[in-house]
Amino acid sequence: MPLSGKTAVVTGAGSGIGRAIAERFAKEGAAVGVWDLNGDAAEETVKLITDAGGKALAVTADCSVEAEIKAAADKTRAAFGPISILVNNAGIAPFTPYLDIDEELWDRVIRINLKGPHLCTREVLPEMLEAGWGRVINITSSSTQSGSFAQGHYVSSKGGLLGMTKALALEFAASGVTFNMVPPGFIDTPMLRASPVDVEAYSQTLPMKRPGTGQEMAAACAYLASDDAGYVTGQTISVNGGRYMGSA
Ligand code: NAP
Repeated sequence: MPLSGKTAVVTGAGSGIGRAIAERFAKEGAAVGVWDLNGDAAEETVKLITDAGGKALAVTADCSVEAEIKAAADKTRAAFGPISILVNNAGIAPFTPYLDIDEELWDRVIRINLKGPHLCTREVLPEMLEAGWGRVINITSSSTQSGSFAQGHYVSSKGGLLGMTKALALEFAASGVTFNMVPPGFIDTPMLRASPVDVEAYSQTLPMKRPGTGQEMAAACAYLASDDAGYVTGQTISVNGGRYMGSA
């Protein structure tokens, strides 16, 4: 199996896209640290994985708080050994008219969606560098390509993550550790269902007339996590059903 012997961490893996990525990585042989703010949801993901014969550990952690990230990484290492694949997936996506975004909300969105991925990456990068092999996959957003109404804070956070992906890809290009991003566009998850968008009506405006699935996101991540993607870094695989065809 392509990911046999690897230890992967997926943040926000108690729901939606993160859960699908964790299940796919486990199916491909990785032992998976299922990190989520919601411990019960993380346990449910682990049950899905172990019922299917895979290996996973649920860890309750706020993936934007350094001490919790460190504790989560230590638990994961103790169970499965050094971490060599990280998917920064945890995120929040509020809708707020720009003039109503106060400092506290701005800071919260940037902390969870941008500082969190930075802290998780900093925590696990040294062991990837030591191994001479690693994969960091950042779940950005198609909104960095299109903008998104009443999401000035959110699009800024994901645009920052896009920049971080490219900067680190370059800085560590010769190390064996790659940094890539997968911007989802309209993937059917609890987050999408909780948004103000009418999923069925909006789907009819899309080129494929349907939302995407977590499994379709997970397939792109599985490729980027594999040895096959060893010469791919700083790149974007847009999983959006042909919605946007520009770069970035
Ligand atoms: P989701 O269903 O809401 O899942 C996100 C998971 O992350 C939830 O379990 C959530 O827990 C958890 N989480 C939130 N903040 C966290 C934190 N600080 N630490 C640890 N876990 C945290 O969302 P999704 O649709 O799968 O989205 C996954 C990623 O894709 C996000 O980064 C999102 O911005 C991005 N994205 C999704 C779409 C889409 O169409 N679905 C489009 C563009 C980008 P709680 O439920 O307890 O908050």
